[in-house]
Amino acid sequence: MLNSSPNSNGRVCTTQILDGFDRGSIDRAVSVLHSGGLVAFPTETVYGLGADGLNSESVAKIFEAKGRPSTNPLILHVSSINVAESLVRKWTDLAQKLADKFWPGPLTIILPASGIVPEIVRAGNPTVALRCPNHQIALELLTSFDGPLAAPSANKTTETSPTKPEHVLNSLAGKVDLILDGGRTVAGIESTIINLAETPPRLLRPGPICPKELEEIVGKLSRFEGTVPTEIAQIAPGMSQRHYAPKARLTIHEATELVTHYNELKQNTKEKIVAVVFGSEVALPPNCDHRRLPLEPYGASARLYAVLHDLDSQGYQEVLFQKPPLTEDWLAVTDRLSRAADGG
Ligand code: AMP
Ligand code: MG
Repeated sequence: MLNSSPNSNGRVCTTQILDGFDRGSIDRAVSVLHSGGLVAFPTETVYGLGADGLNSESVAKIFEAKGRPSTNPLILHVSSINVAESLVRKWTDLAQKLADKFWPGPLTIILPASGIVPEIVRAGNPTVALRCPNHQIALELLTSFDGPLAAPSANKTTETSPTKPEHVLNSLAGKVDLILDGGRTVAGIESTIINLAETPPRLLRPGPICPKELEEIVGKLSRFEGTVPTEIAQIAPGMSQRHYAPKARLTIHEATELVTHYNELKQNTKEKIVAVVFGSEVALPPNCDHRRLPLEPYGASARLYAVLHDLDSQGYQEVLFQKPPLTEDWLAVTDRLSRAADGG
């Protein structure tokens, strides 16, 4: 399948979608990557926008396609610990323990970079972010390409990350050469990021692997508390205030107040409004247009972005979300929702 759209930057404007489970598609993707192009591919978290991670010119195309500020560093995806070792100054015992336990998987590890990591990937930082994704297509691509792939989420900066190939196409048609179709992603939100370049290690972004699981291996983690100032957001752009945002206005409400807010809004506006709640316990009046996510953090994460994309494509303008539970296992969902909400 081919899809084209105008591109102000003069890049080739045809986006091809191929079945990622087909061997021939992987070969085609490798040849696109070797010639400096961009390939979107599924991982277990979200779809990534991949380029040759050791080629500065290819990596520059990622920033151009996403409209991503050059101050935001990228994650290098690797097929194995061996490849990761070649990209850091020193592969530490802690890194080894974390990789043994969580790789392939949704954990990104930050360490001081070796000399071969281009400056553009690191956004000038002395560190590099590394992850080995747990997805058949991603691993086959990485192994066949035989090198690291820089791959942020395959969407324009600040938009909701893609969990299906059509989300990639909606955001980046004409700006990515090839999309490997692997269906919907399983985890549905971005990886957990841990910075091992400081002591104690710091949680830079909550994700599918929760802090408690990391602390069993690394001991007490440092964390960012409350609103993240802009300078820190530069270290981990996923932490900037408005990110992962749908087109609709999104607000967050206690379960007990959700229906009142919904009814008030309904009376005062002609806009298309919807409530999103967790589980089946919140009682909603029959006239309340709503969606339900599982009252379980992994199930809710898996469907969160897909629901936001669906609501956007159905033309909703106001989304009233129930506030997730306050426990640690809900940290990643709470984080993504608060960044998707107006005002951060
Ligand atoms: P995404 O665009 O969702 O793939 O996000 C990539 C995340 O990895 C961003 O939040 C980056 O800030 C973070 N990251 C990548 N490299 C580094 C680094 N060297 N130091 C800190 N964070 C990094
Ligand atoms: Mg992103």
